[in-house]
Amino acid sequence: MSRIRLLPEILASQVAAGEVVERPASVVKELVENSLDAGARKIEVIIRRGGISLIRVVDDGCGMDRDDALLSLERHATSKIRTAADLAAIATLGFRGEALPSIASVSRFRLSTRETDAVAGTEIIVAGGRIETVRDAGEAPGTQVEVRSLFYNLPARRKFLRSENTESRNIEHQLHLQATGHPQVAFVFVRDDRVAFQLPAAASLLERIRDLYGNELVERLLAVEESASAKIRIRGLIGQAGVSRQTRAQQLVFVNGRAIESPVLTAALREGYHTALMKGQFPVTFLFLDLDPAAVDVNVHPAKREVRFRDPAGVREAVVAAIRKTLESGRRDWQQQFQKPVEPQENVPSPSFAPQPAPFPQLAEPVLSGVIPSPESFRGEGPHMSRDAWPTEAAVSVAGPSQQFQIIGILNKLYVLMENQDGLVLVDQHAAHERILFEELRRRMEKEGVPSQRLLLPQTFDLAPRDAEWIERNVATLQKMGIGIEPFGPNAFKIDSLPTFLDVSDPVTFMRKVIDGLKSASNGSSPLRLGEDMIAKTVCRHAVKANDPLKYLEVEKLIQDLLACDLPYCCPHGRPTMIQISLAELEKKFGRKV
Ligand code: ADP
Ligand code: MG
Repeated sequence: MSRIRLLPEILASQVAAGEVVERPASVVKELVENSLDAGARKIEVIIRRGGISLIRVVDDGCGMDRDDALLSLERHATSKIRTAADLAAIATLGFRGEALPSIASVSRFRLSTRETDAVAGTEIIVAGGRIETVRDAGEAPGTQVEVRSLFYNLPARRKFLRSENTESRNIEHQLHLQATGHPQVAFVFVRDDRVAFQLPAAASLLERIRDLYGNELVERLLAVEESASAKIRIRGLIGQAGVSRQTRAQQLVFVNGRAIESPVLTAALREGYHTALMKGQFPVTFLFLDLDPAAVDVNVHPAKREVRFRDPAGVREAVVAAIRKTLESGRRDWQQQFQKPVEPQENVPSPSFAPQPAPFPQLAEPVLSGVIPSPESFRGEGPHMSRDAWPTEAAVSVAGPSQQFQIIGILNKLYVLMENQDGLVLVDQHAAHERILFEELRRRMEKEGVPSQRLLLPQTFDLAPRDAEWIERNVATLQKMGIGIEPFGPNAFKIDSLPTFLDVSDPVTFMRKVIDGLKSASNGSSPLRLGEDMIAKTVCRHAVKANDPLKYLEVEKLIQDLLACDLPYCCPHGRPTMIQISLAELEKKFGRKV
């Protein structure tokens, strides 16, 4: 007896719906994508009770005639591709012809659509995949899809839904993605009869982000320096160094206009930000990659959330380079802002408790003159900056045309207080010194290699074949990093020198840790990056500690060196080195302004 049979059409659609329609937000995604593909200029999304009771998407796109409207509900019916060749170069958001029939098979569904010049439109009502009504409808040109009682006929699926609140938030996130990806389209989102947001058509991405997330975020974004190679164009906005979030909610990446999740890109962002990001935090990105459609396969996941790149390594490198370049260019803007001249103060009579001018503390020689300073050289022996050692006001303003800030003093032996045109700046002296040392060492590593010191006794050790293979491939880089290592028989190595700045008692354990570190790092991070990690870790031990009293000139030098760094505003672990408190903020706090 034969046991195999074809599934009835509706059941087949419900099975497909399992993949395409995971939750209300996926319905919203599919419907909005259809509206975008139909050339809509305005899309309205109305939901009730987390989309479980109602989702309605209304667009002013091209609409459908009656035949197409009926066909659109058939499985594998699409106007977007025709041949296998089309599949290899998809330019629309949809192409599988699965969404409408899937959604209609698991809900009470109504489609109403009208072409621009048509006399009448068409309304189709479907329940659980069965067409119940087809009739003329008189609505405005465009398309309206209404999805009620999602999963009413699949109680098991319904049980998997989260709270209405969570589903609502998922939908909102989905709309943020679509709205960010298509700034030129107006969006309205109505949740439980209240307008949650209303976005006019925007002239630029920046404008759209401002409407969505507010000015405060926009001010902390950098425009990605557009890089166009033959293969890939990268554009968009990303958070400055130090801007981060605890979740990936604002880590948006679009490939050919489609919001996607991609381990390759996540790793690239992480690597691009590297020391500009605190551990466990996520960057803020609105990044757009445009590639030849033939170089990306979007037909990987039924919900089209994932893509496969033909040249993942090339994409990764391009993204890392674009992020790095942008972050470093951010420094210039920041410096300009930071170093705006302090406006000359009128002769304010000094309050009676003002510190009395004292003799300026002398310092023998400048610090950081080409050598990596040890904590000792930084600490100095002379008089420490204390209340009674504050220089006179005239002496405080740092000389030179480019450094327009005034050092006011030091708080709690840790925070350097400074004044610039915008108000008060607090610098964490320890974090600042870490950043300076880090960049100094990195520069050396890139230029001449790290100075290394011979071990008294060279040591040999064995490794697992895979680890050994990695070391063999990277011997040259390791040597540049000051690690003198060479093969010593099959899967065995000899190590005879280590970087001078490392304080390692057991070189073999150290090497094993280095390899472990590399293995746990995301796939294929570059060995140079490993070097950076190593430096970042050691730098911390060498940097000026909190509570190290610094002399005035040392502080001044510290600030100057910090400003000369590539990424001055965060330490190598991504913590901020300085915080600006603007005069406006102070005025607010003191109730001078509302
Ligand atoms: P796909 O988007 O993969 O083609 P769908 O099931 O989502 O598959 O839609 C089927 C077809 O219905 C689309 O190819 C399109 O021609 C038509 N369609 C769907 N939604 C709309 C809409 N909002 N406006 C105009 N046409 C639409
Ligand atoms: Mg579609």
